[in-house]
Amino acid sequence: MFDINKIRSDFPVLAREVYGKPLVYFDNGATTQKPARVIDAVREAYDSYYSNIHRGVHALSDISSGKYENAREKVRAFINAESKKEIIFTAGTTASINLVAFSFGERYIKKGDEVLITALEHHANIVPWQMMCERKGAVLKVIPINDDGSLNLEKVNELITGKTKILAVTHVSNAIGVINPVKEIIEAAHKHNIPVLVDGAQGIQHGHVDVMDLEADFYVFSGHKVYGPTGIGVLYGKRKWLEDMPPYQGGGDMVDRVSFEKTTYNELPFKFEAGTTNFVGAIGMAEALDYIGSIGMDNISKHENELKHYAKERLEQLGGLTFYGTTANTISILSFLVDNIHQYDAGMILDKMGVAIRTGSHCAQPVMSRFGIDGTIRASMCFYNTKEEIDILCEGIEKVKMMML
Ligand code: PLP
Repeated sequence: MFDINKIRSDFPVLAREVYGKPLVYFDNGATTQKPARVIDAVREAYDSYYSNIHRGVHALSDISSGKYENAREKVRAFINAESKKEIIFTAGTTASINLVAFSFGERYIKKGDEVLITALEHHANIVPWQMMCERKGAVLKVIPINDDGSLNLEKVNELITGKTKILAVTHVSNAIGVINPVKEIIEAAHKHNIPVLVDGAQGIQHGHVDVMDLEADFYVFSGHKVYGPTGIGVLYGKRKWLEDMPPYQGGGDMVDRVSFEKTTYNELPFKFEAGTTNFVGAIGMAEALDYIGSIGMDNISKHENELKHYAKERLEQLGGLTFYGTTANTISILSFLVDNIHQYDAGMILDKMGVAIRTGSHCAQPVMSRFGIDGTIRASMCFYNTKEEIDILCEGIEKVKMMML
């Protein structure tokens, strides 16, 4: 049973008011709110068994280590990875992509090689590759997008050459909500033996992700966008790559034996987890995955889909709105502009009505450039949002039009 009232009561912050009005939180693409059981799991870690992991023989360290490794197993099961060795805890999506860009780059990229990304990427899936290409003298190539925001898939085969070493693609665009056919893209790349990194920052929380079924070589996401704590994220990588790639950072835990002459490295996954990781964050994130698992990914997708269609229909009725990412295959993100009103003005007026939406380029300036704009208003909805909240957004947009036109 999908009980929206019960679900909303699981999230303490949703009960608050902003400027004396009920909070309408439509900024879930940027970060999601936390259910009480995630907050409790984090508090419990600090309250009752806090101690550093993997380092002590004492009781508390043993409990912390056990909970951390249990969290790894929960992540493995959630994305259906083959082995816990393939689950690396990082600080988030950005950290995971930087790790792969650096480490994969060190091992496999040489002068003149090519890296393929898409025009739909968040800056986090552009800049680390650009930095690596600059360092290695490699070339960054970009799969373009169509007017409806979908990827121009015909170009994939055209852009792949004998020099292409890796393809990086977002599962879902944070800026315009478009879902990419990642399985198809991976299949196309694999025909040429090219590994694929999928940026799952906006994919993991909206539908089932099965990395073995996708055959993704790398799949990355952030805890804070999947109802977990900030400062924790995941890098899933196929074992064959992770075994072969050199460590990214050096320090404690990632070593086997250290001497001044030579250091040998720890086995997976610890080889990529230098220093004290955010183990409390990992425990909180695993609790969040359990929580959304208990609601059911199918229920989440169904509710979010209904919200998207309702919002699109209601907003269209207002007139004067231009939508970006009009292809049918999208998540519950609506990215739009209202007449010629600047998105910041709209955002400020909506804020005063208690409606939190995002304005600007959404860390995806090339997407905005593609459409000849400098930003949009983005309403990103999730399973705890309601149609009543969409009505409040629509009232807000009407007010924006009344005040600004
Ligand atoms: N990739 C996408 C598609 C995103 O939406 C985001 C965040 O908005 C990121 C990467 C970066 O995530 P983080 O800031 O959690 O590292």
